[in-house]
Amino acid sequence: MQDTLTRLGATTVAATSVRTDWTRDEIAALFDLPFTELLFRAAEVHRAHHHAGEVQLCTLLSIKTGGCPEDCGYCSQSIKADSGVEATKLMEVQKVLQSAAQAKDNGSKRFCMGAAWRNPKERDMPAIIAMIKGVREMGMETCMTLGMLTPGQAAQLAEAGLDYYNHNIDTSPERYEEVITTRTFADRLQTLDNVRSAGINVCSGGIVGMGETRADRVGFVHALATLEQHPESVPVNALVPIKGTVLGDMLADTPLAKIDDIEFVRTVAVARITMPLSMVRLSAGRESMSEATQALCFMAGANSIFTGDKLLTAANAGDDADAAMFARLGLKPMEGEEPMRAMKAVGGCSGGCAA
Ligand code: SF4
Repeated sequence: MQDTLTRLGATTVAATSVRTDWTRDEIAALFDLPFTELLFRAAEVHRAHHHAGEVQLCTLLSIKTGGCPEDCGYCSQSIKADSGVEATKLMEVQKVLQSAAQAKDNGSKRFCMGAAWRNPKERDMPAIIAMIKGVREMGMETCMTLGMLTPGQAAQLAEAGLDYYNHNIDTSPERYEEVITTRTFADRLQTLDNVRSAGINVCSGGIVGMGETRADRVGFVHALATLEQHPESVPVNALVPIKGTVLGDMLADTPLAKIDDIEFVRTVAVARITMPLSMVRLSAGRESMSEATQALCFMAGANSIFTGDKLLTAANAGDDADAAMFARLGLKPMEGEEPMRAMKAVGGCSGGCAA
């Protein structure tokens, strides 16, 4: 381990390099660093690639809630959960566009639309395509999360102009089947590949605090950081335990299984160091974090958040609380282009090369 640490120390000044050949030992060694040292290194990498005082604002809307046939143990929208979430139909296009306009007024640059599906049906595609086109016409970036996609569906979404597709790997490959049994980790990677091949930017991260081990968190970051090309966006969620879900009920009985704030910040920092160009997004769980913890996350390289009062079915911090926090921390909403997309625009490295 000492050799690994020495090697990491020797390469830390080369904060500009992007690698996809990370080993689990290297990532474990980063997690093991003294906290302040880890934060310093992450901040160094962050400043080499991003404007450290800027945070991207995104808004997430549930366009089809509940009744999902998948059995994700953390999710209140699964038909297996006894959470009281009622299934709705796909929202009308016009209503989605009204929400997008409101998000734009509140400063959001990206509008993310999520549907509780295993995969979209062909009959849903025309409405989905109309939503993408409508939001883009407002001058916002679009992101969709609709479950698994075939190559043909990914191509249809790309053709409509979809900027990003979110498909989280959730956790480590080893832990996956303890959290979800209705699909495999390989299914997840296949959809990510279909999205990437269609030319859509990839948003993929996961959830920590699901009672997993440090080794699982290492495996989770490793799986993302060794993709052929890093995701442009990496959401890091802290589990919001919801009564009636498998994990919510399990963690209610064993509160110590919940991740602590310092370990959450460590995960953000390791994601930042291993995926220097990606946007690292604080997602679910932010509402219950103190401002001090969020500030540590921004110091560790998080540079994107979801705004608004709701994240699908979970509570979120709310626009007023975020505006007040930004004022206190001296942060500004991000205006410019993301590093990976800016490089693509000029035909440069798209973040996946090992150079
Ligand atoms: S996380 Fe998504 S796929 Fe899983 S049950 Fe919830 S809505 Fe369905």
